[in-house]
Parts: sequence; structure tokens; C-alpha cells
Amino acid sequence: MKRATYEGKAKRVVSQPDGSAHIYYKDDATAFNGVRHAEFEGKGTLNSQITERLFEYLAGRGIPTHHLGRVDERTLAAKWVDIIPIEAVVRYKVAGSLGKRTGLDHLAVCDPPIVEMYYKRDDLGDPLINDDHVRLLGLATPDEVEWIRSTARGAADALRDLFFRSGIDLVDLKFEFGRTVDGELVLADEVSPDTCRFRDLATGEILDKDLFRFDEGDLLAGYRKLLAHLDRALANGADVQS
Ligand code: ADP
Ligand code: MG
Repeated sequence: MKRATYEGKAKRVVSQPDGSAHIYYKDDATAFNGVRHAEFEGKGTLNSQITERLFEYLAGRGIPTHHLGRVDERTLAAKWVDIIPIEAVVRYKVAGSLGKRTGLDHLAVCDPPIVEMYYKRDDLGDPLINDDHVRLLGLATPDEVEWIRSTARGAADALRDLFFRSGIDLVDLKFEFGRTVDGELVLADEVSPDTCRFRDLATGEILDKDLFRFDEGDLLAGYRKLLAHLDRALANGADVQS
């Protein structure tokens, strides 16, 4: 297999001879399609730890993911996939672009939760698309879209329940999916405070990349706190199951 490297905004993905991918988590933070950029020493390690725990948790709940294991402090091994250029966003409360598009109040409840699709194209600003656009662009079959929607919703619901156990409100999140060389559809990329919105249920404190987007506070402190909450939730879950 020819070795390929993909340098993204937050990660570097290098294909391995055995068909896997090594995903190196950088310390870079970007927002507003790369307009804002900064580095936070240790962010890559934190995001790799949070992603690792969440993919393992989801795998345990029957969600197929690309995750294979850990390589080093800031590198995870995954199945190499062809990323489907659709970002599936699940929203439990209004934030970000949904508020701008609809005029709904910030953090108004979405009941039932909604699933949106965005076309993963930085040069177009990742526009919102619907099933007809997906068909027009040939991004996925109708069956795949159906699977992406239901899997995104199922995975997000599992994560929302998990975080709720440690006093964290999962407001919204973004998933990417890919096709493995064997043709299997799997959850890919990362699940971290870069790709989710988290609020402390008790204090309303922001614990995600909005800290950087809107200069709301110390990003690393927020990510560290989120990881601590997550570890508590995972420990509680273990207690409940045993
Ligand atoms: P971006 O700047 O597009 O957000 P990132 O830095 O987040 O990129 O990640 C690098 C790229 O790696 C993304 O395009 C992502 O879709 C892709 N990717 C994630 N997981 C895999 C995988 N298992 N195999 C191949 N590519 C992947
Ligand atoms: Mg990304």
C-alpha cells in the first residue's frame, strides 16, 4: 500500500503498511474555517485521550468505529478509511450556526434532537446540505445516509447519557464516517472538545473549543476538566454495570 499523509488543521494522518492509519493529534486550535489559529501545548494529548476513551465506550455499545489502539502519547491507531465528506451534527440544544440560521435562542432545547448534514469542503465553508444534495453530489447512497443518521443519533444519545452522569451537558457534536478497505462503514475522525459542545450542568461553564472561538477562558483548563468529568462518568458506569 502506498503511504499517504494527510495534514489537517488539528491532526496528521499517516497510512501504515499494514493498512492502518496513525493519527497524530497536534496542539493547534483553529476556528471559523481556519481564520483564527493558535497553539495550546498539551491539547493534542488531551484530545487523543478523550477520543480514545469515547471510541472505546462507543465500541462497547455496539457502534463500529475506526479506532484500533494507542501508539504513543498523542498518536492513536485507526483503520485507514475513505472519509465520506459529510459531517453529521447532532444537536440537543441550540448553539452556533443553528441559532444564526433560525433565530432560536442560544441553548433552547431541541426536542426531539435534530441531525444535520454538512458538506465537508473547507473551500466552500462546509455548507449545510440535505439528502437531495447528498444524492446530487454522489456522496453516499440513500441507505448509507439512513445509516449515518441513525448511527449518529444512537452514538450521540449514548454519549449524552454518559456525560450526564458526571454533570456535563452535551449540547451538540459532529461526527465523521468513513469506508474501510473492506467496505465497512465506521465512525471515524475524533470525538473531543474540538468537535462537541460541553457545558457544566451546575455552573454553565464552557468546556469545549468555544473557549477559544469566543475567548471565553483557558482552553487547556477546560479540556482537562472535561477529561476528569469523563473519567468519573466512566468509573460510575463501571460501578452500575458490575
Ligand atoms: P480537518 O482540517 O479537515 O478538520 P483534521 O486535522 O481534523 O482535519 O484531521 C485530518 C483529516 O483526517 C480529516 O480530513 C479527517 O477526515 C481525516 N481522517 C480521520 N480519520 C481518518 C482515518 N481513519 N483514515 C483516513 N483519514 C481520516
Ligand atoms: Mg477536523
